Amino acid sequence: MISENLFNEAKKFLPGGVDSPVRAYKPYPFFAERAEGSKIYDVDGKTYIDYCLAYGPLVLGHANPLIIEEVTKQLKNGTAYGVPTENEIKLAKQVVKRVPCAEMVRFVNSGTEATMSAIRLARAFAAKNKIVKFEGSYHGAHDCVLVKSGSGAVGLPDSPGIPEDTTKNTILVPFNDEKAITELIKKEGKNIAAIIIEPVMGNVGCIPPKEGYLKFLREITAENDIVLIFDEVITGFRIAEGGAQEYFGVTPDLVTFGKILGGGFPIGALAGKKEFMDMIAPSGTVYQAGTFNGNPVSIKAGLTALKQLDSNFYSEMNLKGNKLRAGIQEILDSQNLDFKVAGLSSMFQIYFTDRDVLNYEDAKSAETDIFQIYFNKLLQDGVFIPPSQFECCFLSLMHDDDDIQKTLEV
Ligand code: PLP
Repeated sequence: MISENLFNEAKKFLPGGVDSPVRAYKPYPFFAERAEGSKIYDVDGKTYIDYCLAYGPLVLGHANPLIIEEVTKQLKNGTAYGVPTENEIKLAKQVVKRVPCAEMVRFVNSGTEATMSAIRLARAFAAKNKIVKFEGSYHGAHDCVLVKSGSGAVGLPDSPGIPEDTTKNTILVPFNDEKAITELIKKEGKNIAAIIIEPVMGNVGCIPPKEGYLKFLREITAENDIVLIFDEVITGFRIAEGGAQEYFGVTPDLVTFGKILGGGFPIGALAGKKEFMDMIAPSGTVYQAGTFNGNPVSIKAGLTALKQLDSNFYSEMNLKGNKLRAGIQEILDSQNLDFKVAGLSSMFQIYFTDRDVLNYEDAKSAETDIFQIYFNKLLQDGVFIPPSQFECCFLSLMHDDDDIQKTLEV
């Protein structure tokens, strides 16, 4: 097996090998060779259904033909200019048109960069230091620098050596718990710069907010001069055209994006009302720059992705997502298994556990290998679904009805 050799090489040359929590597909050490639509093909010639869609960005499918065509044209015209382009303005206008809180948009390279920058903006705007985040939330690989990680999201450990005042300035609270926030703000409100939230808690099992919870957060933050940041790196352009803000009808002060926005190319963005975005230098005091920020390739990919993410796309996605979810649920019901499905039609996760998914500690260790058994037929047909893909959420296949049918027939 070619992948077994690569597996050994990876251990030598790639830090963490392929055993890191987010890059392993146990028990198959598969190495991708190419991908198209909903499928990934590995170096050994096996085919995988990619339910996770490369950790979320590829709702339009791998190697989306229109994106490939437009990006290829752009590549011939240069990959990085270090100056803005008309397309950057066009993409910003698209974001503003869709996203309720967005009046201005700054493009960056990743979701991590977007959330880090949003937190810096919020601190500057509020002239306070403390940041509130939710247990189990994940805001990027550099969470720990500005916001102590320590949440347990995707099982990441805390980085050592974080300065004491960083940890002191971060407050972890339980999700969906109004009392905890109310008491915290009563005690600490005058020091809290921002509350940052994944509107649907994607990294611990697609847990949606309780009815009225986001509205409650909106009201209490407005009353106490606290900036409300929605981290929509997962939900943005996924759960509705305008993301969680449209879906739940609540408008934050700042929002961060990544994943889907680039149609498979690296991009991130932060957006918000002018008064917040004006904190960026030179109109404000927050330095924000990056060599590849607003690079024409990712911008072109983003424009081409959004063109395809129209209202038809979202209604079709919801239909397919519901169908897939109901079908899987039916199969599992017939097996008398203890399982739970959490999330929305566009973004859901299944746990085989009698433990409560709302308890993120348990969710983290939920058993998912059972998929190997129930999708055995697909395995026999030579189509694989790595169990950890299922663990990863986003169970919705947007672009390949045949595969959905196949899954439901198992
Ligand atoms: N915020 C959320 C909610 C995420 O899920 C992620 C990544 O999974 C990030 C931020 C970080 O984005 P990126 O991996 O593009 O840096």
